[in-house]
Amino acid sequence: MAGIKLDTLTKSYADTQVLHHITAEIEDGEFVVIVGPSGCGKSTLLRMVAGLETVSSGDVYIGDKRVNDLEPADRDIAMVFQNYALYPHMSVRQNMAYGLKIRKLAKDEINRRVQDAADILEIGQYLDRKPRQLSGGQRQRVAMGRAIVRDPQVFLFDEPLSNLDAKLRVQMRLEIRKLQKRLGVTSIFVTHDQVEAMTLGDRLMVLNGGYVEQFGTPIELYERPASVFVAGFIGSPAMNFIPSTATNGTVSMPNGISLDTGQDVSGPVLLGVRPEHLTPDATGHFKMTIEMLEHLGGVTLLHGTLAGTDLQIVASLNGITQHIVGEELTLSAPTYNLHLFDPETEKRIGA
Ligand code: ADP
Repeated sequence: MAGIKLDTLTKSYADTQVLHHITAEIEDGEFVVIVGPSGCGKSTLLRMVAGLETVSSGDVYIGDKRVNDLEPADRDIAMVFQNYALYPHMSVRQNMAYGLKIRKLAKDEINRRVQDAADILEIGQYLDRKPRQLSGGQRQRVAMGRAIVRDPQVFLFDEPLSNLDAKLRVQMRLEIRKLQKRLGVTSIFVTHDQVEAMTLGDRLMVLNGGYVEQFGTPIELYERPASVFVAGFIGSPAMNFIPSTATNGTVSMPNGISLDTGQDVSGPVLLGVRPEHLTPDATGHFKMTIEMLEHLGGVTLLHGTLAGTDLQIVASLNGITQHIVGEELTLSAPTYNLHLFDPETEKRIGA
């Protein structure tokens, strides 16, 4: 087993820099998810760890070994791709055994490893089928099996669940999480889906435009987002932002209502509050005019404007509510759940 170290990694294509000074340490056995919108550099970063892309500057270490100049096959990694990359003319057994055959492992050892992986993944009964005779979820398991038999130091996953339907995705992501914990193999998983990232990762690296916005546990990212980007990206519906002015921590909103945030901050701020932290409270400071209700069963989303402004805000209330369109509702949020950001740098300010 081994950890992974990324040391001031950059990547440029011609004169376009797509990754900027990525520095991170991934611990032995840790499951790290790289998450961010399309085009932010996730795949490029993963492919640099795999050795499928060259590094423009900086270093990649797997364990104590600097691997910049090693071929993918010599890095002791196994990669699971979105399109499974299974050989159509080979059986499941042959697909799983192929990489081991190339490495000239003994036949008995190959059979043992394939059987072990098939048992773990519960695909023993499909070993003699061809990939086309399998469902999407079964193919995904075979792709995992091919990674497991290699007994690598590191698993790299490149959006492996994106071709599955919603229900299967949820099931497979739980399976991958359990499997990774059981095998204890250091893993990096790339996805653009924040829910997938939150449920899978011990820690998440949030990338935006080739920069690391934040690297932390799901709870750190949710409770203390380091930037407007992270605050808006993690959590659904997204956090509300209200451009305001702070004076010694008392924030004055555009409708003239002030509230104390308990922070030692003055000047222009973006006040952030998550929809699920707003609750009806006649003594609250957030007055909203309801324009639309979404009944989702477990929660009701109230969409509207901050009273006296044209700022859109959303509140998420538990259960089915009796509120109606046109109603003016007063809400409050715990001080701990108020976030302040610098409107210019968009970085978090205060605690
Ligand atoms: P993501 O995986 O987050 O969607 P990528 O890592 O695929 O993002 O791409 C990051 C950026 O690098 C994008 O702007 C993309 O257009 C650019 N890019 C990726 N591969 C190449 C390439 N071979 N040549 C030039 N630009 C590339």
